[in-house]
Amino acid sequence: MNIQYVQGDCIFTRINKLTKQYEYLTENIDTDVIIVGGGVTGAILGYYFNKNNINAVILEKSRIAHGSTSITTSLLQYELDSNAMMLKSYTSIDKIIRSYELGIKALDEIEEFIDKYGNTCDFKKVDSFLYTAKDIEKKELEEEYKVRNEAGLPVEFIEKGNNPFSFDVKAGVLSKGGGAKFDPYRFTHNLLKVSCEKGLRVYENTEVVGVNYSENGVTVETIYGHKVKGKIVIVATGYNTELFTKRAFGTKSTTFNIATRPINNIEDIYNGVNVRDNEVPYNYIRTTGDNRIIIGGEDINFLPDIFNEELCSKSYYKLEQRLKNLFPKLSIEIEYKYCGAFASTQDNLGFLGKDPKNSKLWYCLGYGANGILFAMLGGIMLSKLYLGEVDEDLKLFKVDRFDS
Ligand SMILES: Cc1cc2nc3c(=O)[nH]c(=O)nc-3n(C[C@H](O)[C@H](O)[C@H](O)COP(=O)(O)OP(=O)(O)OC[C@H]3O[C@@H](n4cnc5c(N)ncnc54)[C@H](O)[C@@H]3O)c2cc1C
Repeated sequence: MNIQYVQGDCIFTRINKLTKQYEYLTENIDTDVIIVGGGVTGAILGYYFNKNNINAVILEKSRIAHGSTSITTSLLQYELDSNAMMLKSYTSIDKIIRSYELGIKALDEIEEFIDKYGNTCDFKKVDSFLYTAKDIEKKELEEEYKVRNEAGLPVEFIEKGNNPFSFDVKAGVLSKGGGAKFDPYRFTHNLLKVSCEKGLRVYENTEVVGVNYSENGVTVETIYGHKVKGKIVIVATGYNTELFTKRAFGTKSTTFNIATRPINNIEDIYNGVNVRDNEVPYNYIRTTGDNRIIIGGEDINFLPDIFNEELCSKSYYKLEQRLKNLFPKLSIEIEYKYCGAFASTQDNLGFLGKDPKNSKLWYCLGYGANGILFAMLGGIMLSKLYLGEVDEDLKLFKVDRFDS
């Protein structure tokens, strides 16, 4: 079934001009690694495999970065969707701390890429703020602060008395330098540009419609009949995994976003910090390079026909009111409204690695709120794995970790 996972005026494909169009596949080709999916995840994989001198091809069924990459808020932060104490029943504090550390490693890798190849995507390192406006949740945030502080992460506990923000805060954890933000569309295109200059091949409008495994490798068939032969295939198709496996990955919901028109001096008022509240479902806020505010939230269970206008309008309206309540002094006009599927897992981590029953089928699925950072880790660890180096941390993201 062709399910629609993104809907509305997707901000990042609206505010950006097309930087490059890639050709579609018109012949049979050979490679070593076939990456299916040309979103930010596929581009990250392409970059790391290419960097490690591994022959790789990316096949994208429609256009580069037009899936959830076109709407991801791109709050890049090491913390997970849920607080450590909530996650404890699905995993361990040690694993949670390790995930935080890996998140920081992924953030550093993005910064390294930007430093080396230029900041073409409004990348900015910022603090990250998790807060509540409810007295009753104060203890929960104190616990989160304690976990992170004891792990040596640079955090500050915020209360009414030291609240640097204009909005009401009863308690909050401010992660110093714990976050970043960028334009995911431009980041994806720059990753591909850099990698294609060094030999990566990318095909747009080239849907993979069949997969056949043999003793020596794998052959994928594309929509107009041309085939790509490789040693392994990596699924970087976001929420479209049915072609490759019957395995169910994560629980899908729909999340809603609105983005304002550019606002003067927004960074002065707001410090440019990535913000998330402690509601269930939570709301998340960031500013963009051209001084807009994006606010997201209002998550509901995902249904393929959920994109109905009335429901969307209600959710967008609630987000707009929330934003206006938070920043009553700002002149807020909404320019973009969009929503899309989002998948979460019990331990808030994505899936990276080999299929347990098929060593030629690999996954890089950045599920959870930190999808982009997980994709970075996937790029690093899977390219090493291809070269025979097993990273111990891959265990955290094992595809079959929830199988009983
Ligand atoms: C509203 C929203 C907010 C989010 N906010 C954040 C955030 O703040 N931080 C964060 O880290 N993550 C966030 N996420 C998650 C984030 O979207 C993902 O981590 C990331 O964008 C996923 O990129 P992707 O490349 O895996 O998926 P996609 O961008 O969807 O790319 C998958 C690609 O695969 C292609 N494809 C599918 N099937 C085939 C096939 N058979 N053949 C060829 N190509 C195929 C699709 O066309 C698509 O282009 C958010 C998600 C949503 C929806």
